[in-house]
Amino acid sequence: MNVADCLFCKIVAKELGSEIVMETDNVLAFRDINPGAPTHVLVIPKEHIASAQELGSEHGTLLAEMFGVMADVAAGAGLDGGHRLVTNVGPDAGQSVHHLHFHVLGGRAMSWPPG
Ligand code: AMP
Repeated sequence: MNVADCLFCKIVAKELGSEIVMETDNVLAFRDINPGAPTHVLVIPKEHIASAQELGSEHGTLLAEMFGVMADVAAGAGLDGGHRLVTNVGPDAGQSVHHLHFHVLGGRAMSWPPG
């Protein structure tokens, strides 16, 4: 897909509104528009990466920054009972936005396996 048409690139560029929770040099965290749990935050790289399938060793520093943001989001939301981190990759997993994102979900008990 064309990066210019990427929904999350537009959120990064602030061309599209979002409820931002946290922002670092390379990472943005904002609330999911259709929350699946009391806390549902998406954590994305500002750089366009289509999915986790595109990640390589060159993204190690970026991934550390993303996981740091995820931990801060969970702590900031008071998710003391735990939380779930999810990234969907491709059609079978139901990936609907082709810009890497981790879902940070919490605030309720969750079942396993997911649907
Ligand atoms: P996935 O299905 O794993 O690709 O996740 C994409 C997520 O993006 C879904 O949970 C959507 O609810 C969410 N989403 C789509 N558009 C927006 C938007 N404009 N602002 C915030 N979240 C969005």
